[in-house]
Amino acid sequence: MRITRAIVEDVLRLLGEKKLSQRKIAKRIGISRATVGSIASGKRLPSEDRIPLGNDDFDRPLGPPTRCKGCGGMVYLPCRLCQVRALKAKERGRCRHRWQAA
Ligand SMILES: [Zn+2]
Repeated sequence: MRITRAIVEDVLRLLGEKKLSQRKIAKRIGISRATVGSIASGKRLPSEDRIPLGNDDFDRPLGPPTRCKGCGGMVYLPCRLCQVRALKAKERGRCRHRWQAA
């Protein structure tokens, strides 16, 4: 099956929670244990599960996930969640004319 970014992020989230074994994560998501292992180690995925590079939906290379200092999640940096949060905070600040003074 195709391993989408959503699947990779689910696996990384579950791995980050450290509650489930790789085997249980694989079963829950419906992918092979080997694929979970590959995602966990940041190695290239098995050929049948290879992520289509150049796909707009997966523009970041696979690498070992890093603990984000902003949200504490295991993510590929830059952390998209924190980027979005920063953007939202900036938008909110702008409404109150706070950021223009800074
Ligand atoms: Zn973050």
